[in-house]
Amino acid sequence: MGIDSFFSGFISIVGRPNVGKSTLINTFVGKKVAAVSEKPNTTRNRILGIKNLNHAQLIFLDTPGINRAKGKLGKAMVNTAMGVLEGGDVTLVVVEADAPFGKRDRFVIQSLSKPAILVINKIDKIRKDEILSIIETSRQFEGRFSEVVPISAINADGTQGLIDTIVKYLPEGHKFFPDNMITDQPERFLASEFIREKIFNLTYKEIPYKTAVTIEEFNEIPQRGLIRILAVVRVDRKNHRGIIIGKGGEMLKEIGTLARVDIERMLGTKVFLELWVKVTERWSERENLIKEFGYGS
Ligand code: GDP
Ligand code: MG
Repeated sequence: MGIDSFFSGFISIVGRPNVGKSTLINTFVGKKVAAVSEKPNTTRNRILGIKNLNHAQLIFLDTPGINRAKGKLGKAMVNTAMGVLEGGDVTLVVVEADAPFGKRDRFVIQSLSKPAILVINKIDKIRKDEILSIIETSRQFEGRFSEVVPISAINADGTQGLIDTIVKYLPEGHKFFPDNMITDQPERFLASEFIREKIFNLTYKEIPYKTAVTIEEFNEIPQRGLIRILAVVRVDRKNHRGIIIGKGGEMLKEIGTLARVDIERMLGTKVFLELWVKVTERWSERENLIKEFGYGS
């Protein structure tokens, strides 16, 4: 690890309703990005907020569904959700200081398959010596937690230290999102980047550099448990169009298949991805279009 190392990764936040997950994310990001209510979603991984530091980018994920375990099926679903969330780099398990380790907390903690960070929130509601006794109690989950961090999300007490702790567990890597993006539908942006990456890997010469990808539709279809994405691949020469589409549509099909796998992994849900190829002559030489397609600053 060098002096100029950069760290980036996904942090899943789990915990019972009302323990302060949304508050914590808002405190991290320094802006209200997470609503205080939860609504069910087709996506299992929802990006809630992004924290940019000089040496790191932290992407916080919500994990709905973890709280509603009922019966065998419910438990199976939670296990699936746990599996997905543990695809992240770091897991934060948030509990409330004045009511830690309820039945559902235990269930989630016991389902962890790799060490997580235990976050004891709302310490403003209890005395200092009580904090110590909770930390003591957390020892019963031996091996489940690599760190225990008491905080008050609402007062930003201990949250800076928590960020430093999280960064210790992030892999070295590049930025996933531009600095100015803290929560503005980053899933869309990342989906378009996955598609662009495939184009980069599969085409040659100037083509990858002159292709823009924009997401035109991004709709959850709860009845079918999937997300339908319509993306436009924009080339800036007529003859590029045929190359992107390929013989009998083979190239476009391959781009779509590979990108879909990545997007499904990111969202934790099935995706129906539709790609359209459009020509906008010399868009890459026109500043307003570069901006419009999301690549300007
Ligand atoms: P979530 O359901 O886990 O996302 O929880 P929310 O972030 O929506 O918070 C639930 C409630 O707990 C809200 O009324 C918050 O104001 C409150 N809350 C969150 N963090 C703290 C904290 O550190 N101290 C206290 N006293 N209340 C908090
Ligand atoms: Mg919430």
